[in-house]
Amino acid sequence: MKVILKNLTKKFPNRNKKIKEDVVAVDNFDFEIPDGKLIGLLGPSGCGKSTTLNMISGLEKPTSGRIFFGEDDVTDLPAEHRGVGLVFQNYALYPHLTVRQNIIFPLQNLKGDKKMTMDAMNQKADEVAKLVQIGEYMDRRPSELSGGQQQRVAIARALVKTPRVLLLDEPLSNLDARLRLQTREEIKRIQRETGVTTIFVTHDQEEAMSISDMIVVMKDGRLMQMDKPQTVYDDPKNFFVAKFLGTPAINTFDGEVKGEKLYLGDSAVLNVPGVKDGPVYVGIRPEGFIPDENGPMECDLSAVEVMGRDTSIVSTHPAMTVVAIRSIILSENRPDATGNKVRFSLKPYKVLLFDKTTEERIYFDIK
Ligand code: ADP
Ligand code: MG
Repeated sequence: MKVILKNLTKKFPNRNKKIKEDVVAVDNFDFEIPDGKLIGLLGPSGCGKSTTLNMISGLEKPTSGRIFFGEDDVTDLPAEHRGVGLVFQNYALYPHLTVRQNIIFPLQNLKGDKKMTMDAMNQKADEVAKLVQIGEYMDRRPSELSGGQQQRVAIARALVKTPRVLLLDEPLSNLDARLRLQTREEIKRIQRETGVTTIFVTHDQEEAMSISDMIVVMKDGRLMQMDKPQTVYDDPKNFFVAKFLGTPAINTFDGEVKGEKLYLGDSAVLNVPGVKDGPVYVGIRPEGFIPDENGPMECDLSAVEVMGRDTSIVSTHPAMTVVAIRSIILSENRPDATGNKVRFSLKPYKVLLFDKTTEERIYFDIK
């Protein structure tokens, strides 16, 4: 089921009573979520992710704009009639009910021709329990399960009515690091097996990158970019997106373009054909540096950290706007670590330029 948001906006009265203007939690969202895909809704805390999800689920009413599930305009449809499955950060299971009772709970209120027999409900519960691999815990209570298992029960409960859309709001935040990794693989598998259109909210860029078919990057209620994870990383549309994705983060500099050359401090470090003269923000991905004795970029060397296959070089440069420059190279290309300087040449497609006023990307020709 594809989901279409048309000029969707949500304003809240400011929680700070002294401020008269409304908070624009979601600002004119206009995009289409393709059928059967897993979409990561990514952005820092407070950027409007939950509000977006809550409008799609029907828990929150938009200030303006429309929401479609396929051809169906669901904007005025109550949450319980939308056919969405919801999973939140806190598993929200009924503590006094068994796993099985928790899972069949949503089926028990079905009315009219949708009403199910106990046998049919149990069969359906067994089916989804198998899918999320909790079949052996059906008679336990939630308190007898780990956090990861509880979250699987919550997912099973969300799937039991065969939702048109599955909505997950930071579902892994309460899990420890190991379970978080494992459960996100599980969610990916469950999504593939069911083929249900899924929107997964997270503030963790690595989580979004690893799990999503498409990522929607948000900031301050506005859509920054919607693309495949690799495209968002390789080809960010603006400075915010470039900085938000990637570990280690992109290295940033204040640069200057003169005569189609990029200057960092006094040195021309890269040809940038087609870019007009003026100051620019510069981002260089950690993998964009090549140690090169004759390279145009000279940095002061702080540390060389060998991490098996890769080596991380920590250095500084007068034009940088980060605390330190981190470059990642293959260990076999490790430079001499005894000196106090290191020189690099740059991979042009790993160097990104941005307008200093709009922070939009400035493209140049790569030969
Ligand atoms: P996220 O899920 O990305 O952390 P939210 O969607 O929860 O962000 O919130 C977006 C913005 O809307 C925030 O500034 C938040 O304070 C504000 N907001 C959310 N819900 C309400 C509400 N019920 N009343 C007033 N402001 C709200
Ligand atoms: Mg939230």
